[in-house]
Amino acid sequence: MSEALGVRSSVPVVLLDLPLRIDRGEVLRFQGYKTSADVPTADVLALFDEAVSLGERLMAPRVVYRATPVAGQSADVIEVAREQLHIPDIGRLWGRLEAVGAGICTVGEAIEARARELFEAREFPLAVMLDSVGSAAVESLAEYANDLLCQAALREGVKVTNRVSPGYAGWDTAEQAALFRLCPGYPIGVTLNEACFMTPTKSISFLTGLGPEARVDHYFTQCRRCWMRDCGYRRMPAEHTVHR
Ligand code: SF4
Repeated sequence: MSEALGVRSSVPVVLLDLPLRIDRGEVLRFQGYKTSADVPTADVLALFDEAVSLGERLMAPRVVYRATPVAGQSADVIEVAREQLHIPDIGRLWGRLEAVGAGICTVGEAIEARARELFEAREFPLAVMLDSVGSAAVESLAEYANDLLCQAALREGVKVTNRVSPGYAGWDTAEQAALFRLCPGYPIGVTLNEACFMTPTKSISFLTGLGPEARVDHYFTQCRRCWMRDCGYRRMPAEHTVHR
């Protein structure tokens, strides 16, 4: 059962049984379809449908989240608890923050286990498509969590930035360990090894900034996938959602 999400919660909040919808466009992106001009064949679409319905049966989306007050900020560094997070240009991108929210999400290990079985059975096309479904599912879950945080933040009178993850946008993967100290993965069964790889592999860790003056939408408008109807703060119409 899921707990209520308090965006300033200093104790880890666990969200389970989330009604997640896999973004089909993301699956095709992982398959290498980059533009709307790249149209899959009927065979690929049949495989795609089979893999998405298998993935939706196998996934177990869960999220853990914890907020920590910000102790100091500069152009490229956020100081929080005993950690220094080195994220290029983050001072300009996120503005003044009150706290950061660290989150870890996973769709579990069943999708990758089934994909492995399919590889071993030499059913390569379905195995590769299912692997893309797993990657798209956890991306969709991270978007879902970001939207949920924005919805909770509005109730608390603060804003939430877009998420960033170690290994992206110039943030060193090695700081994954710092992120796990801010928000441990064990409540949802996600572990980190010394090389900073997460298990299950279909997992994403992320950081958001919080505060009344936080800047939002630094790389895309969060509202475009958000399912919150009649939100008075909506900045663009919803195109589609990752909420079932
Ligand atoms: S519609 Fe936009 S502002 Fe409103 S909760 Fe969703 S993401 Fe936040």
